[in-house]
Amino acid sequence: QAKAGGKDRVELFSDETRAKLLRRLDLEQRLRAAIEDEQLTVAFQPQIDLSSGHLVGAEALVRWSEASPAEFIPLAEETGLIAPLGEFVLRTATRTLVQLHADGLKPLTITVNVSTRQLEDPEFARIVQQALGEAGLEPRHLCLELTESALMMARSEALDALRECKALGVYVGIDDFGTGHSSLARLRELPVEVLKVDRSFVDGLGTEPEDSAVVAAILSLAHALGLHVVAEGVETPLQADQLIALGCAVAQGFLWSPAVPADELHTFSAVATTARRGHRGEKSLVD
Ligand code: C2E
Ligand code: MG
Ligand code: MG
Ligand code: MG
Repeated sequence: QAKAGGKDRVELFSDETRAKLLRRLDLEQRLRAAIEDEQLTVAFQPQIDLSSGHLVGAEALVRWSEASPAEFIPLAEETGLIAPLGEFVLRTATRTLVQLHADGLKPLTITVNVSTRQLEDPEFARIVQQALGEAGLEPRHLCLELTESALMMARSEALDALRECKALGVYVGIDDFGTGHSSLARLRELPVEVLKVDRSFVDGLGTEPEDSAVVAAILSLAHALGLHVVAEGVETPLQADQLIALGCAVAQGFLWSPAVPADELHTFSAVATTARRGHRGEKSLVD
């Protein structure tokens, strides 16, 4: 609470804070309108089986022409807009996958990001079930992904919602794994089947021994607990080679592709995964 300007008034906010608040309010109103008017879209980042080069899945990432997810997702979480936004992404992703399968793409798993805020809705599992039913998608083709830091703070009701989803036959995964201070005890109790290695550890693979050690530790932890592992943020053939050497099965990253419109996924049905076979931008077929 700053005292400034005229002597008769106390300003609650500095000009800078006020400008930030106004921008936020404006962004919130525009995001609300964008959700209502269906101006949001969903892009899909290919996930590649490292041993075969085959497309095995895709991560659904929301897109809005006005701002980046890093800016509007936190805002959506704070304002509650994440509920309609998340439902839109879930419905779009499941419907899109069914369409891709109908167009001849072999069976994939679609990963959808979920905020713990969405799990506060006691109807969440029913929303997921309904989206699957309306799309005509089998639950095992869907993976719901929550960040490790959010999961560590999640209340027991939220975890119950995840258990209900898992009971439907949907996969549940932990995003940005390694950055969120999981306790091993907690990890064992979570209804998760997938760990996604955070980009910050993939970064130094092949150049920083500590990063290789961390990724190796995550892989052995996953193995011990019977979990699948996906590496994210793979940008170089060297990183891909290191992941293969460490025994990581699935990866995604700019090496192969950023998130793209759904119909472009067809062009990634098989890609090069190692330094020997190609590099960024090349989509040469394996074999
Ligand atoms: P995330 O779920 O960890 O998604 C990965 C982010 O890294 C995406 O950013 C993706 O475009 C980017 N990325 C992918 N490959 C690479 C790479 O090789 N190098 C680098 N530097 N970056 C890469 P994006 O789309 O901007 O999303 C940021 C975050 O916003 C996501 O992180 C996720 O937490 C959140 N988000 C995006 N869409 C949704 C959504 O529909 N619902 C919710 N709740 N969160 C979402
Ligand atoms: Mg994610
Ligand atoms: Mg991530
Ligand atoms: Mg690093």
